[in-house]
Amino acid sequence: MFIGHFGVALAAKKIAPRTSLGTLVMAAQFVDLIWPIFLLLGIERVVVAPGATAVTPLDFVFYPFSHSLLAGFGWACLFAGIYKIVKGDSWGAGCLWFVVLSHWALDALTHSPDLPLYPGSLTYVGLGLWNSWAGTFLVETTIFVVGVMLYASATRPRDAIGTLAFRSFIGFLFLVYLANLLGPPPPSAKAVALLGLSIWLLVAWAYWLDRHRRLNLLTPSE
Ligand SMILES: [Zn+2]
Repeated sequence: MFIGHFGVALAAKKIAPRTSLGTLVMAAQFVDLIWPIFLLLGIERVVVAPGATAVTPLDFVFYPFSHSLLAGFGWACLFAGIYKIVKGDSWGAGCLWFVVLSHWALDALTHSPDLPLYPGSLTYVGLGLWNSWAGTFLVETTIFVVGVMLYASATRPRDAIGTLAFRSFIGFLFLVYLANLLGPPPPSAKAVALLGLSIWLLVAWAYWLDRHRRLNLLTPSE
């Protein structure tokens, strides 16, 4: 899943309006943000295997430290805990806990059974939505569109950047998604990791655009 995770981050703005979209994106994609680092360090492993599913050409051979359920809990607690310490915002921290863990739930929906329950576990979870191209597109696009609508209703632009940076962010994500769905498989596992690292730039983009939006619940003077 790709834009579905962004859909969750965008939707969460409605529930946690004081939390920057950048933080929400980082939370929703947190395990995919650390996964490429683990790949490059050789701690986890992926293999490019065209035809592995109808959608993704990747075989997630070993990724218990980023993508097991237990690790998901751990990352959610760490992420929410650090946010609570830095911002002192319990509500935002609680929401972020769910957002981090939502990544595992959505991955469990799309992946083939390759998500371990905990490092060392031989029980693998995955409902395999990726075996259906149309099903994946429908579900993921719906989550994304709902998220965009919720974010757009929770905020309004402060200035022209608030409009342009938001629209281009949405458009760019959708184009990357289409390129993923329709394009050729990545040339190597290393390319997968390097492309994965670029998601950090999307986090920065989300922080930037969020600063140029104001909350609809605030009065214009704030
Ligand atoms: Zn993932």
